[in-house]
Amino acid sequence: MRKAIIGGTGVYQLEEARETQTILTAFGSVSYDIMSIEGQEIVFLARHGSKHALPPHKINYRANMMALKMLEVDEILATCAVGSMNDAFAPGDIVVIRDFIDFTKNRPQSFYEGDDTKVVHVEMTDPYCSNLRSRFLQRAGMLEIMVQGEAVYVCTEGPRFETASEIRMYRQLGGDVVGMTNVPEVVLAKELGMCYAAVGIITNWCTGIEGNSIEGHQIDQSMALRKNQVTKAFVDVLTNDPLEKSCACSRSLIVL
Ligand SMILES: [Zn+2]
Repeated sequence: MRKAIIGGTGVYQLEEARETQTILTAFGSVSYDIMSIEGQEIVFLARHGSKHALPPHKINYRANMMALKMLEVDEILATCAVGSMNDAFAPGDIVVIRDFIDFTKNRPQSFYEGDDTKVVHVEMTDPYCSNLRSRFLQRAGMLEIMVQGEAVYVCTEGPRFETASEIRMYRQLGGDVVGMTNVPEVVLAKELGMCYAAVGIITNWCTGIEGNSIEGHQIDQSMALRKNQVTKAFVDVLTNDPLEKSCACSRSLIVL
């Protein structure tokens, strides 16, 4: 089986030698890089396109995830640039996403549209693969990469940023960080039975937190600082298979 890395904002390619390919899915075509690292084939997919041209609400999430499934990927690690509304997570920090709260509005969220006379639900006890999360934490520790903690991700529709009142509400609901892309990406991975985990790089304080406004150069600086560390740890995780896997990601569908 192959492994995959999805690069979010600021992570558009890996340093390793690469070869770009395209695959056609039922939802559209997807370009990706493929690399062989330590005998393991790793697919790299830039979520917003290699030139960061696709805004969060226009990303073809179903095409991206179906492409990975067709490429026989069973484990995916993704980066995401996030704003922080938790005082414990400052710009430049790295967090492992533990759970999400979904505030998206207009995105297809499922491969199962009921047209084959089945109703399919997907289990969300562990939206982010517990096995990949713990392997990332372990490998990051071995590489002396500081991980600040685990975070609840609030997904907004974007592309606008949140208002100060929205951030106050998200905070009260238990959110730690905000981004615009993890839903439906994590949900679709689960529907296809692939293990998926996401690591957030805090790029800014959310609107109204710390009294700062969000500036583009802050986001660029935080990403530049951390992206190589995070992708190095990803490659390390994906090229070292665990002795045993205890997650239930491949058995998450409930068919009624
Ligand atoms: Zn899993």
